[in-house]
Parts: sequence; C-alpha cells; structure tokens
Amino acid sequence: MGTKDSGLSNKESNNTAKPNIAFIGLGNMGAPMAENLLKAGYTLSVYDLSAEATARLQQAGASVADSPKDAASNAQVVISMLPAGKHVHSVYLGDDGADGADGLLAELPKGTLVIDSSTIAAADARLVAEAASKLGIDFLDAPVSGGTGGAIAGSLTFIVGGSDDAFAKAEPILAVMGKNIFHAGEHGAGQVAKICNNMLLGILMAGTAEAINLGVKNGLDPKVLSDIMLQSSGRNWTLEVYNPYPQVMENVPSSNGYKGGFMSKLMQKDLNLAMQTAKDTDVETPMGAKATELYEAHTVENGEKDFSSIMARHDSSVLS
Ligand code: NAD
Repeated sequence: MGTKDSGLSNKESNNTAKPNIAFIGLGNMGAPMAENLLKAGYTLSVYDLSAEATARLQQAGASVADSPKDAASNAQVVISMLPAGKHVHSVYLGDDGADGADGLLAELPKGTLVIDSSTIAAADARLVAEAASKLGIDFLDAPVSGGTGGAIAGSLTFIVGGSDDAFAKAEPILAVMGKNIFHAGEHGAGQVAKICNNMLLGILMAGTAEAINLGVKNGLDPKVLSDIMLQSSGRNWTLEVYNPYPQVMENVPSSNGYKGGFMSKLMQKDLNLAMQTAKDTDVETPMGAKATELYEAHTVENGEKDFSSIMARHDSSVLS
C-alpha cells in the first residue's frame, strides 16, 4: 500500500522510455484523448463503467481493465477524465469516507503520477492532492479546454495545478493530447483558471445564440450573420469553431442534433462551480449569474444535449 516505487523519474519522462498509463473515464473527451496516447506509442490500460466506451478503446489497442485498481496495476501514470467531483472522489478516495482507504490512491506505488483532467471544484482537487501527497504520490489537477474537436485533434489546452516537479513529469504526456500546456500554480489553480474560462464560455455561448436569434427573427440568414460577426467585433470562439445554429458549420453538435460535444448539464456544473467560488470569495459575477440561470432552466429538458443547444431557448425548432 503506497510503498513500492513507481519507477517514474524526470529523466525517464524526458527521454524515449514511455511510462505505462492507466486511463479512467472514456467519454466524449476521455476516449479521443486516450486514442491519441495510443497513437503516440503509449501502452494503455483503460477503465470505464460503460462497456461501450471501453470496447472503442480496446479496438484502438488498449487493454481493458475491470476496475481502476486493475487498470493501474502496471502503470506509472494514471489519467482520469470523469464527469464531476463526486466521481473523482469515489475513484481516488473511495466511497467509505474521506480517509481514502478504499480508493485507488491507497493502491498506487509511491512516485506514481496522477493527472486528473476532469473539471471539478478546486477544493475537491486540493483534497485529493493532499491525500495523494501523504502517500508519496504526485497529483496534478489538469482540466482542459478545447472541446471534443480539440480532444480529437490533440490540440487541447491543459491548465495545470501542482508542483513544478510533477508538472515537468507530466508535460511530455500532456503534449501528446494538447498544444498549449499552462502551469497555473499550486494544487487547485488549474481548476480555478478553468472555471473562470468556462464561466466566460457560458456567457459567450448564451450571448452568441441570443445575437443569432435576433438576426434570424429580423430576416437575416444565420450563416450570413455569423460570417459578418466572425469578421467584426463580436467575434469569439463559439463563432469560430462551435456555431450554435444548425447547419451554419459542419462537424459541430448543432449540425448533428446537438449530440456529443459538451453536455449542457456539464456546463451547468461548471457555472455552478464558478458561482460557488465567487460566493466563497465575495466576488461579484452578474453576467455569470445570468448564464447560470439560463443553463439551469435549459438543462431541465436538455441536460444531455450539447451546451450550444441553448439556442433552443429562443427557437425550439432547432431541436427538430
Ligand atoms: P462524459 O460524460 O462524456 O464522459 C465521462 C465518462 O466517465 C463516461 O464514459 C462515464 O461512463 C465515465 N465514468 C463515470 N464515473 C466513472 C467511474 N466511477 N469510473 C470510471 N468511469 C466513470 O463527459 P466528458 O464530456 O468526457 O467530460 C469529462 C470531463 O471533462 C467533465 O468534467 C467535463 O466538465 C470536462 N470537459 C468536457 C469538455 C467537452 O467538450 N465535453 C470540454 C472540457 C472539459
């Protein structure tokens, strides 16, 4: 229990010897991220609650494990991409309380590098980091930005919190899945930066949907209007790569019945995390509060649909 040495050192992570990786959570983001690691020659053992998710990775060359512990049994690095804080808590610390005795951390050799890329509360990330540190395990919070398109293309932005040493070990691995790797600060800093970004994204998506709707209701073609705003001062990421109006752009959720992508309920989770952080630290976020209110109402019926489906708040015909 936490006494063996994982064998992962800075030297190893910087030269050609590739550590074995356990990858936990193979959903819309985790699956393409894991596939990119396989393509880069890493040996992967994967685990997900969904057999459909693991079958996809098995086909791509990963071995499928029966539990997080089984996945990590021969790994020097563990990466997780889970929905929310409660899943991260359950995998690493177990379900029997905060002491972590029945979680994965207690099974890992000393020196194992754990990278959690889920978006969770900074406080939860710090809790897992502290438990890991007591066992001699390096933990990094490393949430991502860039959506499923970025996960497939290997061009994600990683926003990392943790020690310099652990960051240096993780960097070559993260560089396989991402293009921009930021060290935001100590444990939890990655999550704080991530929720600031996603609060802004929620505001931008809601605002972009609102602007397109205003144009369409006043006789404009959504593509013509989007092209105009893309070359004008309203330009933003949603217009560039993730237009919320159907058929304006190819290969985005809005042109595919709002399937896949980033579920509205996950955006709502992130907005709630931002609102909680703002409350705890006495910071005003009126625009974030409005976006949270809009997504809260939207997810009642559309929680599983991509977050660009907020367009339907103005025009329910986009869902048909
Ligand atoms: P998802 O729901 O598609 O995937 C989550 C996966 O985790 C599922 O396959 C589920 O079966 C699995 N899972 C749940 N509990 C588990 C457990 N205990 N053990 C093993 N597997 C378990 O979610 P996603 O869209 O891939 O998002 C994952 C994380 O990344 C979230 O925190 C999300 O906020 C964040 N994120 C998503 C996007 C996006 O565009 N989808 C972008 C940036 C960040």
